[in-house]
Amino acid sequence: MSKTILVTGGTGFIGTNLIHRLIDLGEKVVCVDNNYTGALSNIKDLESNPNFSFINHDITKPLTIENKIDQIYNLACPASPPAYQKDPIFTWKTSVFGVYNILEFAKTQGNIPILHSSTSEVYGEPLVHPQTENYRGNVNFIGIRSCYDEGKRAAESLLFDYHRTFQTPIRIIRIFNTYGPYMDPYDGRVVSNFIVQALMNLPLTIYGDGSQTRSFQYIDDLLDGMIKMTNNQSSFAGPVNLGNPNEFTIKELANLVLKLIPDSKSQIVFKKLPDDDPTHRCPDIALAKEKLGWEPKIKPEEGLIKTIAYFKTIL
Ligand code: UDP
Repeated sequence: MSKTILVTGGTGFIGTNLIHRLIDLGEKVVCVDNNYTGALSNIKDLESNPNFSFINHDITKPLTIENKIDQIYNLACPASPPAYQKDPIFTWKTSVFGVYNILEFAKTQGNIPILHSSTSEVYGEPLVHPQTENYRGNVNFIGIRSCYDEGKRAAESLLFDYHRTFQTPIRIIRIFNTYGPYMDPYDGRVVSNFIVQALMNLPLTIYGDGSQTRSFQYIDDLLDGMIKMTNNQSSFAGPVNLGNPNEFTIKELANLVLKLIPDSKSQIVFKKLPDDDPTHRCPDIALAKEKLGWEPKIKPEEGLIKTIAYFKTIL
């Protein structure tokens, strides 16, 4: 029997990929988004699909839906630093009021499972490396990233209070840097920036000296982990890291993108490092392996080649 699944943030990068995967699996999907950073064009191919419906709604406001929903994926929130810093108060409200409204909605549906997308940003500028889920982080809670970091931390806190108070079946994942098709080419994230710049023969903009590290996972690996986490029948609520421990410096990433787009005429330029930009980030995924039998499979070159092919089609 197919399930009816609510995806908030469904027109964004991860939401769009997830919805296409769920539809392919035979599920029915109700997509909720206000298209603040998402794009309706991402789901245009599903417009006439009877298993798909779209509701234009801002989750900072209470949600009512006529369909009976079986599961929720709560992905709604601007996620790239320039996007979430543009209106930090809205970002915070989307994380905190948004998760509150979704938790209340879940109660009206008979306490259905909610997969909530938290983030590696809850670790801030980490003093533990790689980051394990029991590390409590090092966030500058009054800095320019805190609307997102603290918003996501408050959301985790609220989810656990609902879990303890109402036994809401919560599932919290902490997503590390992810890339792939349907990324917004201009949302300012490093992978999309470098690929778009290289394809357009523009300088690749490294912020700082490029020695900061990130660990990039391809979207399909993340989707596998999300679906496993949501459908896990144990009482495991997380939080669980989902990321690829394959860590590299931003400079190495720039050089890899240039290697994979050999006809690019782009050079590298160095720009000011934004405030509070984390120096290192790498997930410890032992818990995901143990509890979900999950680990990423797609190598960086393979994922980047697919992503480059996508950007070539849309630019
Ligand atoms: N970055 C960069 N050039 C860009 C965009 C980002 O050097 O054009 C750096 C950014 O300063 C950070 C890393 O790449 O150190 C990852 O940035 P992104 O915005 O993708 O995600 P974050 O992990 O910071 O949320």
